Parts: sequence; structure tokens; C-alpha cells
Amino acid sequence: MAEKTKIGIIICDRYRRCAGGKCFRSLLNREGAFSRYKNREVEVVGYTTCDGCPGGNVEYAVEEMKGNGAEAIHLATGLVVGYPPCPHITYFRDFIKTIWPRSRLWHSSYTSKIPQYARSVGNVE
Ligand code: SF4
Repeated sequence: MAEKTKIGIIICDRYRRCAGGKCFRSLLNREGAFSRYKNREVEVVGYTTCDGCPGGNVEYAVEEMKGNGAEAIHLATGLVVGYPPCPHITYFRDFIKTIWPRSRLWHSSYTSKIPQYARSVGNVE
């Protein structure tokens, strides 16, 4: 059996009605930010929103995801390149790296031309 990676996904609360279709389809097809899991089993141990500006739930959610075995956190594409992009991403990144230095944090989830462009110019991981 392929090795398994546990991940958590955090979406922007402005898109809280999103049912995750694009994220989960991209994960199933190992596209976009999920292409790094080709040939690996993936278990989503958490999917939630930041709970609205300024994103207080990120602190709680990351702790819970970590407690549930997550090795990586994906800040969803809509959070990274929404209109406008979240202004607190740098804080989220620094906070997560402070409380959990060995975490893997990926800026984006589903496939979209916008994050692909952002990645190509070095704005997101
Ligand atoms: S802009 Fe950032 S802090 Fe505000 S709701 Fe979206 S993800 Fe949360």
C-alpha cells in the first residue's frame, strides 16, 4: 500500500458556503497543489474556514489538525488568490511555522490559472 499523508485544508471564510468541490476533485486527480501527492495515499483530517477576518480559527484549526495527525496544511486557493487575496497570509504562515516548525504549509489547493501564475512569479508556494 502506498504511504499515506494526512493533510488539513483551511478556506477563506468569505467562501464558507463552498462545499469543497474543486479542492476535493483536484485532490482526487492529484492536480494543482495536490500533484505533490502523486503515488501517495492522502487522508484529509480537517477542512474548515478561518472563521472570518482576521482569521482567528486558523490558530485553533491548525492545532486540531496537527492533533489529528496532519503533516501538511493547505491554505486553499480561494484564500490565497481570492478577490482580494487574504491580507493575513503572512501572519498565518509565520504563526504556523512558530507553533509547528516541522509542518509543511502549502499556499493553494485546487487547480486554477491564477495560483499557477502566482507560483510562476514566486508569489505563492
Ligand atoms: S480574507 Fe483572510 S482572514 Fe479574512 S476571511 Fe478570508 S482567509 Fe479569513
